Amino acid sequence: MENRGLVIVHTGDGKGKTTAALGMAIRAWGNHLRVLILQFIKGSWKYGELESIKALASINDQIEIRQGGLGFSQRGSGAEEEHRCAAAELLQTAMDELRSDAWDMIILDEFNYAYSFGFISLDELEQLLSVRPEKTHLIFTGRNAAQELIDRADLVTEMRLIKHPFQQGIKAQKGIEF
Ligand code: ATP
Ligand code: MG
Repeated sequence: MENRGLVIVHTGDGKGKTTAALGMAIRAWGNHLRVLILQFIKGSWKYGELESIKALASINDQIEIRQGGLGFSQRGSGAEEEHRCAAAELLQTAMDELRSDAWDMIILDEFNYAYSFGFISLDELEQLLSVRPEKTHLIFTGRNAAQELIDRADLVTEMRLIKHPFQQGIKAQKGIEF
């Protein structure tokens, strides 16, 4: 069987982009692939899955999660420069880790958010894709995936909002939202 790394995108306005990436991480880890998760937005991975990853990581060191980004913010707010720096730092981490070839799957969670805010350029995206080892899967999540990313991807899924409990005023549920 040919092992070929895929460029994967989870986008759209419906729920499930990050959790689908987690599903892939679990599937990959179970296949003895080494999985690195980089969070472009702090808090995008919730307590529940952090505990699960911690449990997997205690079994072996083939899964790791690193927070690099900042919390949500509005463009133009005073914190913009900080967000830009946090995104640049995490991007550098992603490049270094890809170059080191230490992972079979790297998840760039909420990358699309950082990209759509202009914190990451097309040049940087291209560099990221070009340093990717042939067998490494790279997963990008977040709403509003850029067309240039979609064009370069092998697998793109759009989660489309049909209904969300928040619309009925139902609060976040344990195991579903956190
Ligand atoms: P999840 O982490 O549950 O897979 P996601 O990655 O698809 O969600 P994000 O865009 O990262 O969604 O948004 C994160 C949070 O916003 C989640 O808690 C999610 O439930 C909530 N959310 C996602 N889509 C919607 C929506 N259409 N309406 C309201 N809240 C939403
Ligand atoms: Mg998400």
